[in-house]
Amino acid sequence: MRLSRYFLPVLKENPSEAQIVSHRYMLRAGMIKQSSAGIYSWLPLGFRVLKKIEGIVHEEQMRAGHIPMLMPTIQSADLWQESGRYDDYGAEMLRISDRHGRDMLYGPTNEELITDIFRAHVSSYKDLPLTAYHIQWKFRDEIRPRFGVMRGREFYMKDGYNFDLTKEDALHAYNRHLVSYLRTYERMGLQAIPMRADGGPIGGDYTHEFLVLAETGESEVFYDSAVTDLSFGDRAIDYDNVEQCQGVLEEFTSKYARTDETHDEALFNEVPEERRRVARGIEVGQIFYFGTKYSEAMGATVQGPDGKPTPVHMGSHGIGVSRLLGAIIEASHDDKGIIWPEGVTPFHCGIVNLKQGDDEADAACNQLYAALTALGLEPLYDDRKERAGGKFATMDLIGLPWRITVGPRGLKNGVVELTSRRSGESEELSPEEAVKKIAAIYASHPSGRGF
Ligand code: ATP
Ligand code: MG
Repeated sequence: MRLSRYFLPVLKENPSEAQIVSHRYMLRAGMIKQSSAGIYSWLPLGFRVLKKIEGIVHEEQMRAGHIPMLMPTIQSADLWQESGRYDDYGAEMLRISDRHGRDMLYGPTNEELITDIFRAHVSSYKDLPLTAYHIQWKFRDEIRPRFGVMRGREFYMKDGYNFDLTKEDALHAYNRHLVSYLRTYERMGLQAIPMRADGGPIGGDYTHEFLVLAETGESEVFYDSAVTDLSFGDRAIDYDNVEQCQGVLEEFTSKYARTDETHDEALFNEVPEERRRVARGIEVGQIFYFGTKYSEAMGATVQGPDGKPTPVHMGSHGIGVSRLLGAIIEASHDDKGIIWPEGVTPFHCGIVNLKQGDDEADAACNQLYAALTALGLEPLYDDRKERAGGKFATMDLIGLPWRITVGPRGLKNGVVELTSRRSGESEELSPEEAVKKIAAIYASHPSGRGF
């Protein structure tokens, strides 16, 4: 993309409405624009990152064997009356009626809808197990929408649902989700720690929230610092292997890590004192096993092996896709702007032309652009007639992890400068070597095509 032809409305001033750094940088970098409280337009740069994040979520869900689909945003109230949640949900649910006076709502989540689809089409235990998911906009009329996309009213969420014949099978689905979530967040450059959470009215021990540690997080968390040493890495996993998935769950959840809702002071005190941590975190996902709650309420049964109708065991599993942009920025920035991890960066690298209009510099930039593009990489070329300082400030603010700087002086010696946004370190390389290096870096950070 050439910056002269792109739409990147960066702001020079700090927007006064933004209280936390991720919100401030998303506004300043021209990623989002508030449309009304908690509702945002996604400007081109923000949209690109959102799609990169969504792409990783899809890839990891499909790798785990989960099936993508899409359900509508607007739902009929009938299903929610059936499950009993129409009244429970209260003012957070946006209720609307259509021209015939039928009660409708903008979905805050989809357990009812998926259960309705399931009961219409699945009747035998032979069709199980089944895990399907979608990534769709949700609406919750939050009392206090704030922090930009972090707590929106309209937000983008991945929600997946498993249907299994037995509790054991459903717990395997639960473990599979835990493993796939660990991989998902790590690919985004994030450490998200599974913490034991509150089952709410559903009860039970089987729910974990994934938290990214950050001072601005809304949840208070208590953990053994040893959990922060764990990483999933690039180990191979067979998602059908029950013991393997269970092993990962045990490895990642046996150390003390809880949100304030389930915190147990006595248990926490058993952690050696020097490893006890009280901090704040951002919830970026949650997994849940809830047994037969919805299937019983809504008659989602299958014919079991014994020929008798059996309610299915279910779980639901969510990732806050749009919230993740805020969480990643909270975890990765400095005082000049965002520092995108390679896995989610909107463009793979920036090209800064120090002397736009200089034949040699222009030609070198065009060549770099073509060479990177030919390798499937997506550069952002700042081809505007602007001062170098302004170009650097924009690149730093929007946070591309790598920048190639091209100027007449370097070109005389056959070199360009490759700079890491994270370390600030630069090296002089031939243009060919710079392209090769960037290609090598991204070979280990696959991400989908940008929009
Ligand atoms: P919270 O406790 O933050 O209100 P929740 O537990 O109600 O969230 P879930 O129903 O578990 O949310 O939704 C799955 C994921 O969707 C959450 O882990 C979170 O990352 C994201 N999410 C929930 N509410 C919002 C919101 N208002 N804005 C942006 N993302 C959200
Ligand atoms: Mg939650």
